[in-house]
Amino acid sequence: MLSEQELIQIRRELHQIPELGFQEIKTQAYLLERIKRLPQSHLTVETWKTGIFVYVNGLNNDKTIAYRADMDGLPIEEQTSYDFKSKHSGQMHACGHDFHMTIAFGVLAHAAFEQPSSNLLFIFQPAEEGPGAAQDMLKLPQLTKWKPDSIVALHIAPEYPVGSIAIKPGLLFANTSELFITLKGKGGHAAYPHSANDMVVSASHLVTQLQSIVARNVDPLDAGVVTIGVIKGGTKQNIIAEQAVIEGTIRTRSIETMTRIKQRIENLVQGIETGFECEATINYGANYCQVYNDPKVTEPFIEWLKTKEDINVIICSEAMTGEDFGYFLEEIPGFMFWLGVDTPYGLHDAKLEPNEKAIPFAVKAIIDFLYRR
Ligand SMILES: [Zn+2]
Ligand SMILES: [Zn+2]
Repeated sequence: MLSEQELIQIRRELHQIPELGFQEIKTQAYLLERIKRLPQSHLTVETWKTGIFVYVNGLNNDKTIAYRADMDGLPIEEQTSYDFKSKHSGQMHACGHDFHMTIAFGVLAHAAFEQPSSNLLFIFQPAEEGPGAAQDMLKLPQLTKWKPDSIVALHIAPEYPVGSIAIKPGLLFANTSELFITLKGKGGHAAYPHSANDMVVSASHLVTQLQSIVARNVDPLDAGVVTIGVIKGGTKQNIIAEQAVIEGTIRTRSIETMTRIKQRIENLVQGIETGFECEATINYGANYCQVYNDPKVTEPFIEWLKTKEDINVIICSEAMTGEDFGYFLEEIPGFMFWLGVDTPYGLHDAKLEPNEKAIPFAVKAIIDFLYRR
């Protein structure tokens, strides 16, 4: 296994070059260079866009276990106390994907030196934060010729202490969808409302109406979120706004509720079009399928975790966060788990400073699991 120092150095080097979805050029080059320095005897390395596949041929060649790590950063200006801050202004690894890649590389490095019994497929996935890449990657020949029997991934969890792994069988992360609505009417002079269609007024009505969906259309024993985070319209205080834009996110526990909420949004938007004589467009942006941990593979993992004295196992509840990894789990049985990194700031926070001690802990835990007898 790589030393703690080496792992932390890799994390810090990756932390300094965060790149947005499908722009992970330096990140990909960095990882390829690191992979090239490993023994190559049972590795096959292939790339797709800014992503990387590394297939590790196992001794028994019986089954293939995939391990996925996401690669992209976020459009956030870093505000940590680090002396190894992002060198890309306005971009930051604020979701721990620098940790995810480092841990995957740590496990891969071990597998390169010590051939595992089963085949392993490391998937370094770009664009997790958007627009998403899992659906496209699933269609690639690599996923056919190296067809995984199961797939595993982790996500850092700021709220849990280092040394802990939180997981549950079944639903772990929600179904999520972005929401962008544009309303177009007719602008005009503030004193002549009768000859214009005011999009500030129609957007205000729409935002209020959208609140009724979770309250009135979602089973109270199910759950859903419709959050509008942005409302923009108009240019000046004495001009009637010709256009307004509403941006938000939808989260649900079930696929059916996601469909239902979208249908209600479409109906309400249609009503606004008629009622306010305007034209509206709806764009759902990045959509993520739920992360559903297959109990058949998750429960044995939990049982194994419980036998490890150095791992604090937490059976958590599901979260309304979203993850592109859900698409992999739709096609391949597997699971995702939370890795405790013990920091007061949440994911996507400009001050996020996950505890680096979690890196060697996770590398060891995953190696122990993959090489267990
Ligand atoms: Zn994220
Ligand atoms: Zn993330």
